[in-house]
Amino acid sequence: MATGTKRDYYEILGVAREASAEQIKSAYRKAALQWHPDRNPEKKEEAEHKFREASEAYSVLSDPQKRAIYDRLGHAGLGNRGFDPGSGFNATIFEEFQDIFGDLFGFEEVLGGGRRRGRGQRGQRGADLRYDMSLSFEDAAAGVNTKIRVTRLENCESCKGTGAKPGSGMATCKTCGGRGQMSYSQGFFSITRTCPACQGVGQVIREACATCRGQGRIERERTLEVGIPAGVDSGTRLRMTGQGEPGTNGGTAGDLYIFLEVKEHSIFERRGADLLCTIPISVAQASLGDTIKIPTLKGEEDLEIPEGTQSGQIFRKKGKGLPNPHGGRGDLYVNIHVVIPSKVSKEQRRLLEQLGQSMRVENKPEERSSSFFDKVKDIFG
Ligand SMILES: [Zn+2]
Ligand SMILES: [Zn+2]
Repeated sequence: MATGTKRDYYEILGVAREASAEQIKSAYRKAALQWHPDRNPEKKEEAEHKFREASEAYSVLSDPQKRAIYDRLGHAGLGNRGFDPGSGFNATIFEEFQDIFGDLFGFEEVLGGGRRRGRGQRGQRGADLRYDMSLSFEDAAAGVNTKIRVTRLENCESCKGTGAKPGSGMATCKTCGGRGQMSYSQGFFSITRTCPACQGVGQVIREACATCRGQGRIERERTLEVGIPAGVDSGTRLRMTGQGEPGTNGGTAGDLYIFLEVKEHSIFERRGADLLCTIPISVAQASLGDTIKIPTLKGEEDLEIPEGTQSGQIFRKKGKGLPNPHGGRGDLYVNIHVVIPSKVSKEQRRLLEQLGQSMRVENKPEERSSSFFDKVKDIFG
């Protein structure tokens, strides 16, 4: 499939930007009929590409909310929405297409009579599952392998998901005579509906499987191993492909999404991969300079405080922040807090008075300067 530059959805369907929902649907139907791979056996690849393109355009423009986003922001606006950008446009597109038009227009009749129908043709993708996970700051920083327990529906082992008692076999559905669908004529169109008795499979079970009581699925608790990459943050979502619920009638399994929440650290504040912490120093250290110990994620390190350091001054330790999941590491910012003693001894008082005599400051208002928060904002961008 083509990636990179994407064609405009309106252009793909050949409709105006103010086209009505009906016009969009009709344009899609036309494009789909023209490009359905079954109708273009000699240029299947091109047809499939065009078909998918049209289907993608339709899936966006037929949804008022997505269409509004697309109108305002273009393809980029749709990039990060929902579970997974673009995942709706892969293997399931033909199924979606059938859901949209299969029943509505008797579309398959047009394509040459229920050939794609019958047993197993109503394959539905399994449901996606969500798992919420809370992580300590340290685990999120270093990455961790952990186990989670997930309760999900799985295909019944006794009947392999058919719901039929092993050995009892299936019987042809009486309601639809095994076609899996019921057709009616209504004006110009032939309307096709999925058979309600067999859900389109065309067969029904003779005797129900005892293990799953004919459901074909059973709730199971599974322990899954999850590798959490280093540097994840609250809001990070991990996808475990195929670990959701199984599909029906041959459909693919859904995915499991792990939603992460990272607990806050007692001393480090986090901005992306960068860290910030505040260290107090004395007036003497600030005036004369010193080497102090500062905490990092991997133990203590020295920080050189030059003489004349001011309260609120920020020092950067390059590469001492969190690992960035996309490579590299953030930085550690140290915010210096010069502590003014709130209580002094007799001796200290004497020394400070002496100091005060030799070190005078003119008590005139200063020019306005940016506050600490502005400074931090500047550094963090
Ligand atoms: Zn069973
Ligand atoms: Zn039936």
